[in-house]
Amino acid sequence: MPESGRAGSLPSRIPLRRGKTNGDTMSGLTLNSVRKDFGSFTAVNDVQLNVPHGTFVCMLGPSGCGKTTLLRMIAGLDLPTSGEIRLDGEDITAVPTHKRNLGMVFQSLALFPHLTVGENIAYPLRIRGAPREEQKRRVEELLAMIHLPGYADRPVAKLSGGQRQRVAIARALTRSPKLFLLDEPLSALDAKLREAMQVELRQLQQQLGITTIVVTHDQREAMTMADTVVVMNQGEIRQAASPIEIYRRPADTFVADFIGSTNLIDMDTDSTGRAIVLGQAIAGLSAPRSGKTILSVRPEDVHLTAPGSEGAITGTVTFVRDLGGTIETFIDCSGKPLIAVSTPRARPEVSVGQPVGVVLDPGVCVVLDR
Ligand code: ATP
Repeated sequence: MPESGRAGSLPSRIPLRRGKTNGDTMSGLTLNSVRKDFGSFTAVNDVQLNVPHGTFVCMLGPSGCGKTTLLRMIAGLDLPTSGEIRLDGEDITAVPTHKRNLGMVFQSLALFPHLTVGENIAYPLRIRGAPREEQKRRVEELLAMIHLPGYADRPVAKLSGGQRQRVAIARALTRSPKLFLLDEPLSALDAKLREAMQVELRQLQQQLGITTIVVTHDQREAMTMADTVVVMNQGEIRQAASPIEIYRRPADTFVADFIGSTNLIDMDTDSTGRAIVLGQAIAGLSAPRSGKTILSVRPEDVHLTAPGSEGAITGTVTFVRDLGGTIETFIDCSGKPLIAVSTPRARPEVSVGQPVGVVLDPGVCVVLDR
């Protein structure tokens, strides 16, 4: 198992330090109105965030949204233009990186290629002058933890990508940091290994109870690992919530569209107060008070039925993508494209060009500002 990169449970002899996740704001990381300007450009704008001790946060957003800049300020590599960063109640905004007790892993890993695995992992202890015995013991503990026991004397240069990744993680944890920061740590790995490492990283974090913040642009990765997903766009936090909350109750159309795929459909209210979507009154859907809104409907909540069925919107099938386990049906409803996803058994037989009835599940649709 060690070399394969497959996920597995961790050895039981590693002492566990389970974190409190009671939302105590004195314990954990707090960002108060954190802002970063580069000249006249605002990369991070008034960010407010509380990361309770022992939780796993993924910062997610499109390229250039300010994720890395925010992480660098948490790490002490950049100073905020304004605002405050607190760790366990202490103001660390201007505390230098090496005094913050952080573990960091960046995309480049920055392992020392001329050193062995053990020397790399022991490095943070060696520069502090820790006794050799302590270094050896800690290296062995960490190697067991990352499923590479017996690897201490191997040259780092001879490891696979996934093994190097684990060594970088182990080295960041050598000094039992208060905060574990990772920037796109898995992006250099191929898809399969990456998925396995996501599970491993999450399991490791849960075993150690260490407060962890990962920057990623991969929403599947964020959904796999995080207690809280922080969705950013243009320097601002658009929503911070659990993965399922983000998926099921997106705060706005940006989040709804960025996380997974969704159908965004204009919604109006008629003179009798009914919700009208694509010309059809939708029973069971609360009519928007403000008039014009947008309905977000996940593809799995779009159901196909016979055309002309009561309450169904009429459309025409334009494309069918059969992926084996799921079928995606593309439908045109009076010029508006929709996507429905279902399992093969749950879907009526339809073919391209055929008229079809489309039913939107009112219980799970989300009404958003237009
Ligand atoms: P990516 O996923 O592509 O790494 P990101 O969300 O991590 O993107 P940042 O690296 O935080 O984005 O950058 C946010 C914005 O700030 C970008 O427009 C970037 O060009 C700008 N920026 C970052 N660092 C600097 C700098 N040192 N000087 C000027 N602009 C910068």
